[in-house]
Amino acid sequence: MRPALPEAGHLHRGLILSRDSVHIVGASLAGIRAAEALRREGFSGTIALIGDEPHRPYDRPPLSKQVLSGAWEPDRIGLTKPEKFDEIELDLRLSTRATAFDLASRSLTTSGPDGERTENVDGLLIATGARCRSLPGTDGMSGVHILRGLDDALALRADFDRGPKRVVVVGAGFIGAEVAATARGREIPVTMVEALPTPLGRVLGEQMGSVMADVHREHGVDLRTGVGVDSVNGGDRVESVTLSDGSLIEADVVVIGIGVIPNTEWLDGSGLEIDNGIVCDATMLAAPGVTAAGDVARWPNHRFDEVMRVEHWDNAIEQGVHAAKRLLVDDSAAQPFTPVPWFWSDQYDRKIQLAGRVRADDDLEIVEGSLEEHRFAALYGREGRLVGVLGFNRPRHVMQYKMMIQDGVSFADAVSAEI
Ligand code: FAD
Ligand code: NAP
Repeated sequence: MRPALPEAGHLHRGLILSRDSVHIVGASLAGIRAAEALRREGFSGTIALIGDEPHRPYDRPPLSKQVLSGAWEPDRIGLTKPEKFDEIELDLRLSTRATAFDLASRSLTTSGPDGERTENVDGLLIATGARCRSLPGTDGMSGVHILRGLDDALALRADFDRGPKRVVVVGAGFIGAEVAATARGREIPVTMVEALPTPLGRVLGEQMGSVMADVHREHGVDLRTGVGVDSVNGGDRVESVTLSDGSLIEADVVVIGIGVIPNTEWLDGSGLEIDNGIVCDATMLAAPGVTAAGDVARWPNHRFDEVMRVEHWDNAIEQGVHAAKRLLVDDSAAQPFTPVPWFWSDQYDRKIQLAGRVRADDDLEIVEGSLEEHRFAALYGREGRLVGVLGFNRPRHVMQYKMMIQDGVSFADAVSAEI
């Protein structure tokens, strides 16, 4: 049964648009949270949730952690209980890919188990996320992995289960760092290669990146920084990796974690503006009746005076909800989306959390703990404002300083605050 319409006032003030249907493309985190939000807001029309994966929406963070380690089986990572799908009456279309959209005629073309279908859409919410970059010459070579979806995680886990002699991880971003940590947890020898001077250096800055480097080395990772990959070598199966400094590392498993590309190709020629993601206004509207959310969406976040695309879990949820609500109201009631983005990353026994937007040249102050013990909270300031907080096993501090960022507290006041 669909929930009854809520009392008036539940939605934003302003004109509430009447829509017959909303199509959501991308049946993952942003997409499912958007569908749930539509029903919570009292939307009683049809909701089609269209996803190209065969699986019901599932959570990705455990893929590089609990699923890869073997601690969890896939049945633990569903994003919504099966009975909830009935409750919110979704037209859930799995293994179905959106192949084209035309804004002028508002027609959406999909291809799925029942063949190709073109239909008119009323509201459209795009949440097609991103896919992994790969390295040239590695297609089809067994033992070489990317990690984005459940099937990728299970394939990599199967290779870990065989007890590899050495895993080479290319890229020390989030995927690389988490896979390296999980592999070391399984006592698998790991070499991690990063072109930058430190792991996660672009995200955390060099000083904090070097703390990350220490953590990996202390856990036995052979970390090679400031060096790229020239080639991945082998026949049917990978055998070694040649680095740009000429060194050769023998490897029977290679994991490539060198960033992602937003899934927007199906929108080429649609009439929507695409530029490193779907370009939205401050309210997440990409065009009349079309919104976007999650890893695929780019928008001006007025809180930071910055156009951003955020590739993290919390953003996909909050933005999915915001983009859903945006489809139900007219321009006069639309609210800008102005979050303080944040993420966490679990590596070894560290919970690393960052809230805000930080840059390498921000002012930096350790306000709690110490770098040496790898347990601390660090604040980032810019032009006198608190713009970020990084915590290593300091969740309470991160959440409290996040609220200060939200409240526009000065850097000096944040540094001297008693927490
Ligand atoms: P996605 O989850 O990428 O989903 C997009 C969906 O759309 C996919 O199912 C895709 O197959 C589908 N799709 C694409 N194109 C089409 C099409 N044309 N038609 C139909 N369907 C299509 N974030 C954190 O903050 N903390 C973490 O610890 C963390 N860990 C992570 C671990 C891993 C291994 C990964 C991969 C990500 C992790 N993240 C983490 C990031 C977080 O999971 C993502 O930001 C989030 O999944 C983004 O959600 P989304 O719905 O925007 O996109
Ligand atoms: P990422 O975090 O963007 O990191 C990619 C890293 O690889 C960067 O350090 C990048 O350096 C480096 N790199 C790029 N090209 C390279 C090359 N040719 N050779 C060697 N290194 C190269 O991306 P990711 O780690 O692949 O993660 C994929 C996605 O999953 C991201 O959206 C990420 O946010 C998400 N994810 C998030 C979490 C989390 O939040 N905890 C965990 C797992 C995954 P440059 O910066 O110089 O390009």
